[in-house]
Amino acid sequence: MSTFLKKFWSKLTKQGAGDRPGAYPVPGSAPRIIPRDQHCISRSNISENCLKVLYRLNKAGYEAYLVGGGVRDLLLGREPKDFDIATNATPEEVRSLFRNCRLVGRRFLLAHILFGRDVIEVATFRGQLGDDDDGDHEVEEGGRILRDNVYGTLEEDAWRRDFSINALYYNINDFSVVDYTGGVADLEKGELRLIGDAAQRYREDPVRMLRAVRFAAKIGFRIHPESEQTIYELGHLLEDIPAARLFDEVLKLLMGGHAVQTYELLRHYDLFQYLFPLTETALEREEQHFPLTMLVRALENTDARVAEGKPVTPAFLYAALLWEPVRQRMAQMVRAGESEHIAMREAAEVVVQQQVRTTSLPRRFSTPMQEIWAMQLRLPSRAGRRAHRLMEHQRFRAAYDFLLLRAEAGEVEQELADWWTQFQEADEGLRRNMITATGPDQGSRRRRRRPRKRSSKAQD
Ligand code: ATP
Ligand code: MG
Repeated sequence: MSTFLKKFWSKLTKQGAGDRPGAYPVPGSAPRIIPRDQHCISRSNISENCLKVLYRLNKAGYEAYLVGGGVRDLLLGREPKDFDIATNATPEEVRSLFRNCRLVGRRFLLAHILFGRDVIEVATFRGQLGDDDDGDHEVEEGGRILRDNVYGTLEEDAWRRDFSINALYYNINDFSVVDYTGGVADLEKGELRLIGDAAQRYREDPVRMLRAVRFAAKIGFRIHPESEQTIYELGHLLEDIPAARLFDEVLKLLMGGHAVQTYELLRHYDLFQYLFPLTETALEREEQHFPLTMLVRALENTDARVAEGKPVTPAFLYAALLWEPVRQRMAQMVRAGESEHIAMREAAEVVVQQQVRTTSLPRRFSTPMQEIWAMQLRLPSRAGRRAHRLMEHQRFRAAYDFLLLRAEAGEVEQELADWWTQFQEADEGLRRNMITATGPDQGSRRRRRRPRKRSSKAQD
């Protein structure tokens, strides 16, 4: 960097309002610029594809920055989940630079640059909402932003982001970090602070409350008092969020490797009820301890799998999340004289129908989820060929994992879970012995009927 630029940067750094102790920067103040030698982001930690996109945009004369979670995580010394890019090129201009580019967007128009399965998201700087009614943005009466496809400057883009630590930009032109909103100071403090007036920002987009919880759980930051207090007051606004968006958010909340902590924070901030109302009621109603244990075990299990790089499926997660309402409803029906199988099917149907009003659940997940539940009734019956047949079932592995969790939670005998563990590991001879040892009483109804047929034949 030239001496001139160095002087220029240091002047800007000194001017940065974020430096003033106790005060947060306000729109209009100069950004704090952290030069390359004063931060830890190295290009070697940024994906090759992402660098390619940044460089190409920059070479074509556009501004190009890495932004959002990527910068936040790199500054924290963590491995970013993905890399997002912000630029002053419009989506169409981005598309003209990359053959492998697709324009997408529900709420905003974005450019996706595809490198096989790796997708780099490029967003054009978005402007602040003004009073002018040019039709490019739409605000509901309650303050919720429905559409805001207004392009803007880097500065405007920074101020409309959610949290200060998510509004840091890594400039590919000089490798500096640009901070308009005080994000670096908040990173140092370990604080998650909504940019601007908390109530207004949550009203614009209530999902930011869920994002606050997600980031607090993920990086262990505390939520700034104002951003935190307002969650209690405005949590109910989540009722107006489309079910499909909440489903996406639930997956990010609970499949990101910090499900236990996230779940605890969701309940702490009274937000869980807006995602899983039936589960919330069932947990409140249940006096015994195990339902909560079962759910927490399932979440621990999910976190452990994510940590080991094993796949996790929404079907299993939802099976655990909705199990308690299903179980309670089913028990009620059985008490009223219904058979377990019918009670299970009907309870499952009712619970799914009600749940999808809050967070949608695509059929490709709800079908296997219901199979996992139905298998819970079949796993105790092991006589004859039943154990073998069950093991061949497409959903056996998930159902068995589910059974382990129920056993750990004290909901079924540990012995049954151990039996299945051993059966899977056993050779054919041992398997036969194990089945015989379960005794005829452990068999299915069909199995029990057979001896009766034989005895009636004998009488003939
Ligand atoms: P993750 O590590 O989960 O990807 P992230 O911070 O990158 O975290 P994304 O959902 O990928 O989160 O969003 C990228 C960036 O876009 C955020 O860091 C934030 O600056 C901005 N952003 C995303 N959602 C919102 C929102 N609802 N309101 C304001 N800004 C948002
Ligand atoms: Mg991201």
